[in-house]
Amino acid sequence: MKLKSAIGFFAHPDDETILAGGLIALLGQQGVKTHIVCATRGEGGEVGQPPLVHDRRDLGAVREAELRCAAYALGASVEVLSYVDPQVGPDDVLQAFEADFEALARQFAAIIQREEAQLVLTHGADGEYGHPAHQLVHQAVMAAAQHLAPQVLVYSVAAFVPTIEDRLWNQNEMAHYALDIRPWAAQKVAAMECHRTQHALFTRRKKQKSVRDALRTVESVRRQWPPVPEGLPEDAFAELLKQAGAWSP
Ligand SMILES: [Zn+2]
Repeated sequence: MKLKSAIGFFAHPDDETILAGGLIALLGQQGVKTHIVCATRGEGGEVGQPPLVHDRRDLGAVREAELRCAAYALGASVEVLSYVDPQVGPDDVLQAFEADFEALARQFAAIIQREEAQLVLTHGADGEYGHPAHQLVHQAVMAAAQHLAPQVLVYSVAAFVPTIEDRLWNQNEMAHYALDIRPWAAQKVAAMECHRTQHALFTRRKKQKSVRDALRTVESVRRQWPPVPEGLPEDAFAELLKQAGAWSP
């Protein structure tokens, strides 16, 4: 089977770029039509530092435009759903968006069917660093695959810099394959540049000087559906990854 169509389901604008920008660029290069679906407009997130958005009510529209810019840089189409990202509280407590779970899973399944997607990329069960919105998207994608689209391959994605400890990693879920995405770095950096309101966030944790310094150069994946009882998954995406130089960590 040759892959023709893939979808990335993510919770917020920038997740697609940070977690999977290199992989999405690779899919495009290989002629796989890739569609990004973002559940929210990220309206609860940061406004930039110094603020690029002065009225918080404008943040959703600004971040949606940033996402469209990033998708274009990665060679993907994009669609933003109408869930609302709750604002991060003063105590930094992260929250999921409000959704009827069954309806969300059905909505995801309908998009998988409409796009005739053979591959889905999404968040890990841990939500990377425990983000409840990432976990919710993961769970709804899994429900969609199991009950409504059992023929689809679902892989969770994560990204890190090999030399430093990094939280964008699903610690309880071993990756099946990892890829050095530096051959696609120009596209991933261009997509990071698009997410202007998030630049302070990208560089804050390791005090990097530029967005490029904050590039996560390794992206890793784990097949979540169909389950892999042991060993490594063998399928069309695994084949594409291996041909691109992926290894099993
Ligand atoms: Zn996110």
